[in-house]
Amino acid sequence: APGDQPILFVRDVHKHFGGIQAAAGVDLEVGRGEIAGLIGPNGSGKSTLFNLVAGMETPDRGQILFDGHEIGGKKAYTIARLGLARTFQIPALFENMTVSGNLLAAAAEGHWHGAQQRADETLALLHLEPVANNRASDLSGGQQKLLEFGRVIMRQASLILLDEVTAGVHPNIRKIILEAIARLREQGTSFFVIEHDMEMVRNVCDRIIVMDSGRVVTSGAFEDIVQNSEVMQTYLGR
Ligand code: ADP
Ligand code: MG
Repeated sequence: APGDQPILFVRDVHKHFGGIQAAAGVDLEVGRGEIAGLIGPNGSGKSTLFNLVAGMETPDRGQILFDGHEIGGKKAYTIARLGLARTFQIPALFENMTVSGNLLAAAAEGHWHGAQQRADETLALLHLEPVANNRASDLSGGQQKLLEFGRVIMRQASLILLDEVTAGVHPNIRKIILEAIARLREQGTSFFVIEHDMEMVRNVCDRIIVMDSGRVVTSGAFEDIVQNSEVMQTYLGR
């Protein structure tokens, strides 16, 4: 049945930049309703994989299926329209617009109806109500990360890619982000997250996928990955 298909299916995906093989035959799946964590050393190809999935890069070869649609090489806006949303490591906000305005501007095509209500719910979920009418440029760095996440929430995506969304943020803000992820997952949203914070990985991810040198080297439950001392030494630096 279609409901049994993974939300994301990646097979033998390759991408090179000059002589660098950033994706060297990536195979992985993200299940429906799953929160999958992607870890691996710097330069292992994590962000490249996100760029390939979200349409910012075109694979040299291989298959990428999102929700049953072949999306490899499709334009980013086409993939977004199918229900995939992502954050960037550096928030891309409309600095001169208010926090509310940024949320409304992110409402997905076809979701204008009810956008105001969803913006209000998102402000509450992310504890941004007190700054709803402030300019985005007046927010703290952590609040800007919350707003970036809020803009993704507004798109009502079925799969959300998060690239180090808790990196460098205050523990209070990290807690808000984790609670929001849990709430969205209850509503059926799937997540694929790049994360260096092992506490976050342990707390939120159902399954960990480990990359090195452009390939998936292993995947499994956090406890199983942690018990694999070779993986821990090589990939997590412990
Ligand atoms: P990670 O996110 O795991 O740190 P990246 O996907 O950013 O890894 O990078 C994987 C490899 O591809 C690195 O060697 C990086 O320098 C290279 N790379 C990534 N993007 C580009 C690009 N646009 N041009 C050239 N090299 C790139
Ligand atoms: Mg990266």
